[in-house]
Amino acid sequence: MWAKIFRGLILKIYYPILMFITAFYKRKRESWQGHIIRLNNKFVLIQGIKTKRILLLLPHCIQVDTCKIRITHDINNCKRCGKCEIKDLIGISESKSLNLYVASGGTIARKIASEVKPELIIAVACERDLSSGLADSYPMPVYGIPNQRPFGPCFNTRVDIDLVTQAISLFCE
Ligand code: SF4
Repeated sequence: MWAKIFRGLILKIYYPILMFITAFYKRKRESWQGHIIRLNNKFVLIQGIKTKRILLLLPHCIQVDTCKIRITHDINNCKRCGKCEIKDLIGISESKSLNLYVASGGTIARKIASEVKPELIIAVACERDLSSGLADSYPMPVYGIPNQRPFGPCFNTRVDIDLVTQAISLFCE
């Protein structure tokens, strides 16, 4: 219970204060958002959640730009060609019976979460979207995994599959 309260203090008080300060130190913003995500993750872990009802949420930019298949409505439209990590992530979610969705923004992510009603969300996104999403979603426990952006923001992003499988094994019953 106290871990949930601490998480609330971090996300609702400490995080807005940090973001206010970064208005004057813009170069620090991303690293402080990462700090908030790591703190949040620690307290989500302390909450000791074990469940099968996990929602794995991915950003739309993880789909390679040359793929024209629409996967935001139904990820099973993916042809599993392996040009992006969606193929592996579908395999992982099937083997663990998790819900896997691609969200094109915060509003869609909230809609998916309200329909799926998970006990825990594992979310992949950039530090900015993740940190604000964690704060918006509180008290829902969300474990954040920052993405990799070898081509810059919002374009052909990637995620470390090992980090995703490790996160799932931390919470999956
Ligand atoms: S794995 Fe292939 S078919 Fe599936 S989303 Fe990626 S590029 Fe498209």
